Amino acid sequence: AKDRGKNNFQYYNAKLNKYITRKIIIENALRKAMENEELYLVYQPKIDLHTREMRGMEALLRWESSELGTISPAEFIPIAEETGQIIAIGKWVLKTACKRNKEWQQKGLPFQCVSVNVSVRQFQHSDFVNTVEGILHETGLNPRFLELEITESIMQNINESTTVLKGLRELGVKTSIDDFGTGYSSLHILRELPIDTIKIDKSFIDDVADSAKRSMVRTIIDLGLNLNLSVVAEGIENEQQAKILSRYKCRFGQGYLFSRPVKEDEFEKLLHTQS
Ligand code: C2E
Ligand code: CA
Ligand code: CA
Ligand code: CA
Repeated sequence: AKDRGKNNFQYYNAKLNKYITRKIIIENALRKAMENEELYLVYQPKIDLHTREMRGMEALLRWESSELGTISPAEFIPIAEETGQIIAIGKWVLKTACKRNKEWQQKGLPFQCVSVNVSVRQFQHSDFVNTVEGILHETGLNPRFLELEITESIMQNINESTTVLKGLRELGVKTSIDDFGTGYSSLHILRELPIDTIKIDKSFIDDVADSAKRSMVRTIIDLGLNLNLSVVAEGIENEQQAKILSRYKCRFGQGYLFSRPVKEDEFEKLLHTQS
């Protein structure tokens, strides 16, 4: 038994080592990623489920590392959050998305609101509202064409977060609670928050086709509508889901059914088809 304990320990230790090593490798590669222009954004349309027209877009970060190949944001963003690199990366994302949106508008393409993901660490950074204001000023984008997606974890610091949300609203920027339903936001708090949108997490959308499980989605949609919020369903993959969500009065949706996130040239073509 003693031996086995030791083996387990060694196994665990080896796994931990591998995990830490991978983290350090990513951290170091990420340091060079911005200057080497290895980061770029892809865009996924947001669709009006009733008319099937585009009603916005979400910018999603991609990393093509020269050393490591393609790394998923699900892997490198948590690391960037831990190391603090997310502050600089997040600024770059925000600026790039605003700049691109303004350029599309200047080309005469239909005006769309761009949603940008903001991590909690970035959101809670003392400078955040000023940073957003500076970027809007610099890029010349009208604030109403920018929406910031944050997760329910901002509610851990409810007072500070409310102040930031108010600051953003004063700027004229929209805000959305991403992955809604997976966190621990109380409904009571949600009512007090100055936000514009809730985005229902994909895990609930996966359940929509199952008649025994879909009541939860309905509850979330009704909640959003009662609070006068815009309701978006993420991760719609088939027509059945889209139909049920639309029947439940969920106005907007995103997902592979409509389009995967695509590179800017391809997204520009999508915009052209909307005009
Ligand atoms: P998220 O914000 O919840 O984004 C939705 C994710 O679902 C994206 O994955 C998107 O590509 C994917 N997706 C969209 N439609 C479908 C669908 O129909 N089916 C399936 N299976 N997936 C779908 P992605 O791009 O890999 O991003 C993963 C997560 O990484 C994001 O989840 C977000 O939390 C984070 N992330 C991505 N870009 C950024 C960024 O610029 N800043 C920050 N802070 N986080 C980001
Ligand atoms: Ca998002
Ligand atoms: Ca989401
Ligand atoms: Ca999600």
